[in-house]
Amino acid sequence: MRQHLRLVALLIPMILVASNSYAAVKAGSACTKVGLKSVSGGKSYTCIKSGKKLVWDKGVVVAKPSVAKPAPSPSGSAKPMPSPAVIADPELSPKSIFASASVCQLKSDLNREANLGYQVNPAYLNSVGTVNLAIIFTTYTDAAGDDRAFEEYGKKQFPEVAKFYENSSYGKLKVTMTTTNKYYNINKPSTSYNLMAMNQTSKFWEVAVDAVNAAKGDYDFSKIDAILVVMPSSSSTVDLGAMGMEIREGGKLFQQGITASYINPSNKAPVMPKFLVHEIGHNFGLLHPVNQQSGYAWNVMYWEEVPGADLFGWEKYILKWIEPSQVDCLSTLPATPVINYLEATGISSSNTKLNVIRVSDSKALVIESRRKSEIDDLLPADEGVLVYTVDANLGSNRAPIKLFTNNSRTRVFGNQRLLVGTLQQGESIVADGVKVTVLKQDKSGDFISISRSS
Ligand SMILES: [Zn+2]
Repeated sequence: MRQHLRLVALLIPMILVASNSYAAVKAGSACTKVGLKSVSGGKSYTCIKSGKKLVWDKGVVVAKPSVAKPAPSPSGSAKPMPSPAVIADPELSPKSIFASASVCQLKSDLNREANLGYQVNPAYLNSVGTVNLAIIFTTYTDAAGDDRAFEEYGKKQFPEVAKFYENSSYGKLKVTMTTTNKYYNINKPSTSYNLMAMNQTSKFWEVAVDAVNAAKGDYDFSKIDAILVVMPSSSSTVDLGAMGMEIREGGKLFQQGITASYINPSNKAPVMPKFLVHEIGHNFGLLHPVNQQSGYAWNVMYWEEVPGADLFGWEKYILKWIEPSQVDCLSTLPATPVINYLEATGISSSNTKLNVIRVSDSKALVIESRRKSEIDDLLPADEGVLVYTVDANLGSNRAPIKLFTNNSRTRVFGNQRLLVGTLQQGESIVADGVKVTVLKQDKSGDFISISRSS
C-alpha cells in the first residue's frame, strides 16, 4: 500500500513536466484561475491571487523526473503506468486578446418591455442588496380564506425564494419577508376585478391597491420593496403572477408586485415549489428566456420544475451578480483558436464565468459551464458547456436566448423529454459561424476552444 502511494507521488511531477513543457510562464505574469499549475524552466508555478489580480507565484524547483527511478517490480521490468484519463491542461490564450467588457454589454431597443440588455430598467427591483417582500393575505365577500396559504407562502415559497437568490447571486442579493399571517378582508367580491377576462378590463393592480390600503396599519411600507398579495384559492381569477403597478405608500413608489393563490385556478393543483422564485424573477426584470414550447431542462424562468433551475450566466451578468471582470469579451475572432477556461456559473468566486462573442450591438454568442450545484440538480451526463445566443431586442417568449446544441442530450421528466444540450469533453458545435470545442472538463469547469468555423 505504502509502495503504491509513493509511485503515485512520483508520477505527479512527471505528468506536470510532460504536459506543460511548452508553457512560457513567468513569475508575476497574469494567469487565469487560482490553483492552476504550470511548469516552465524547471520550476512549477501556481496561479495565486495578488491583490485584485491573478498572477503566477515565484515557483518551486521541480525534481528532475530522471532521478526518480521506479521501484523494481518482481519481474524485473518496470511497466509504464497506464494513464488513459490524463489530458494535459490546455495552454490558455493570454487575457490581452479580450476586448473591454463594455464591448459585449448589449443594448436593447425594447425600452419599457423586459429584455436582456445589459442595463436593466430601474423600474424593476434592485437585484443587489436586500429586497424586503411584504406578503399580504386577502379575503373577499365571495371568497373565504384558505389557511393552508399561510403555510405555503411563509414556510415553503418564501424560504425557496430566499435560498435560491442567495445561492444564485453568490450572496449579493438577500430577499427578506414581512408578513402578519392574518387575513385582510376586502369589502367587495373578487369578481369585481374581472381578472378572468385577462384583458384591459382586468384590474390586477387594483387587487394590490386594495390589499395595501387594508393592511397599511400593520405594515411599515417604508421598509418594504415588493408586494405579494395572496388571494383565496376560491376567488374568481386566472392563474396569478407578477405585475407592474404604481402604488405610493409609506413615502415609496411600488412598481413591482405579484398576485398569487395557494391553489392554481386553472388546474386546481397547488402552486409549484418554485412558483414564487419565478414570479419574483419577473420583478427583477427577468423574462421568459426561451420559447415556451421547446421543452428545456434549464432555467426557473422557463419553468419552475426544471432540473437546471439556476439562471443563465448572462442573466446573472445583467443582474450584476457576475462582474464585468469575470466576463471575457471578444469583439472579433482572431485567426488562431482562443483557448479559455470557464468555471461553472454555480460556483461562487471571482474567476472567469462567461466568454461572450459580440455579434452586434444587441446580439452576442455566450458560452458558460454548468455543474451540479445547490440549485442545479444535474446528473453527471448533464454537466458541461452551454452555448447560446442572446438577442436583447427580443422580448419575453420570443426566444431572446437560443441554445445551440447537437440535440443528443435530453433528460426525461415525467412524460416529457427536456433538452439538456450541453457539450462535453471532445465535443464541438458550430453556432453563428463560431466553432466551440470542449477540450477538457474538470470538477469545476471547462477548457474550451473558440475558432472560426470555416
Ligand atoms: Zn412568468
